[in-house]
Amino acid sequence: MTRPIIVWFRDDLRLTDNTALHWAAERGPVVGLTVDETVGRPLGAAARWWRRHSEASISEKLPLIRAKGDPREVVPRIAQALGAEVTWNRRYHLTDVDAAVKERIGATSHPGFLLTEPWEVVTGSGTPFKVFTPFYKAVQALLIDAPPHPLEAPQFESADVDVAALSDADSVEEPAWSQTLAAHNTPGEDAALARFHEFLERLRDGGSYDNNDLAGGMTSGLSPHLRFGELSPGYVWAETAALADEYTAAAPHAWAFLRQVVWREFAWHRYYHVPKMETRNVRGQFDHFDWAWTERAVPSSDEHAFAHQAMDPETEHLDELAQWQRGETGVPLVDAGMRELWATGAMHNRVRMVAGSWLTKNLGIHWRHGEEWFWDTLVDADVASNPFNWQWVAGSGDDAAPYFRVFNPELQREKFDPNGAYVSKWVPEALTPMYPEPMVEIKESRKRALAAYDDMKAATES
Ligand SMILES: Cc1cc2nc3c(=O)[nH]c(=O)nc-3n(C[C@H](O)[C@H](O)[C@H](O)COP(=O)(O)OP(=O)(O)OC[C@H]3O[C@@H](n4cnc5c(N)ncnc54)[C@H](O)[C@@H]3O)c2cc1C
Repeated sequence: MTRPIIVWFRDDLRLTDNTALHWAAERGPVVGLTVDETVGRPLGAAARWWRRHSEASISEKLPLIRAKGDPREVVPRIAQALGAEVTWNRRYHLTDVDAAVKERIGATSHPGFLLTEPWEVVTGSGTPFKVFTPFYKAVQALLIDAPPHPLEAPQFESADVDVAALSDADSVEEPAWSQTLAAHNTPGEDAALARFHEFLERLRDGGSYDNNDLAGGMTSGLSPHLRFGELSPGYVWAETAALADEYTAAAPHAWAFLRQVVWREFAWHRYYHVPKMETRNVRGQFDHFDWAWTERAVPSSDEHAFAHQAMDPETEHLDELAQWQRGETGVPLVDAGMRELWATGAMHNRVRMVAGSWLTKNLGIHWRHGEEWFWDTLVDADVASNPFNWQWVAGSGDDAAPYFRVFNPELQREKFDPNGAYVSKWVPEALTPMYPEPMVEIKESRKRALAAYDDMKAATES
């Protein structure tokens, strides 16, 4: 009998343009494996919901073993039980875990999670880029030289394996709030492909890509699909660049969209070079910033638990954190974003920036509290993009918004939601007398934030 080949699926829950699957299909009967890993950062509640459904959709397309535990133990054990070879698509965190598995069983790994490898995109002096625009140009140049050629979903023989007998992942009950997630989201490769092609058709038919239009749904909505690898960035790049070549009028929109896809790439390259970005400031100077912070304010095992009420004046910021989480800050745009997040598992990028600025600057609360909340509630919560963007907002990251740039949420609302469509959708009472005043005064709190920044600078520059 031919040796079966195990394709260990991680953040690549797709059949189209899946290099590892393609490699396996050419060699022997295929069986998929997912591991609910007990190493690394535990997924937040919304992402866990997404992954579960995405795995279920893959299991309809090939035999899938769903295991749990430490992959260094689980993967070799299952490989030995089946006498199988193992292959996977490379990832850019938990690389020590993958190296240990490889050492034990000699697996093969393939590219495909990113457009380029982090060690490939470097400055003239051979160091990684820390600034986005030159990084983008370098990625673009590489891809023009060597464009991605996405692979079609392969024909393969399914391995004759009793997947149920080898599966031990818990079948978790759907939590009550997941109904609202289900109403707004459809995980899985088929939905990802459909959404992407609808987006391209819209551009082809003269539609715009605009990531500043809050109400109009003028972005792709692909982030959770890319997050879980239901679509490959190579496929997205190739199809969108082809559209831009063919339809001149669509080209500026197509390129504006691809530029955003390269932000994902940048976040991952930075994460690869600066691991543990979710807990440490990229710019060490910010270790001296006087953020309000309480370790484990929201235990990650508490699905969607708001911050505990503070009993102690020292942790008063936990009350403020809870107000922010619930969308009860008295700032219409912030409240709209936070309620959108709670209801749908998503939030518009610009509103993420404004809500993040309010938390970290006007309220002086550590970006890690915001990052943890997004980690738990976003369906696209990503190991690299989430901390990267939080540090961008807080000013502590590479190529970040300077700390002294404090978004004024009222001006942002006037500019990007001029007719109030977005705010009135999520905070219908915003324009009535029932709606409270902002929890802190906008101008005063901005001044306090700038003074705290000056204190940090004085402390670190003297
Ligand atoms: C505080 C904060 C936290 C964030 N956390 C995440 C996260 O956990 N996961 C995540 O995927 N995005 C995160 N983002 C980035 C961005 O908000 C989302 O990717 C975007 O809103 C998704 O909508 P879309 O798919 O319609 O994007 P589009 O505008 O259509 O962009 C296309 C794709 O490009 C990528 N992209 C766009 N903007 C960014 C960005 N700033 N950083 C990285 N990739 C980007 C996404 O994969 C997105 O699907 C965060 C942004 C902020 C300000």
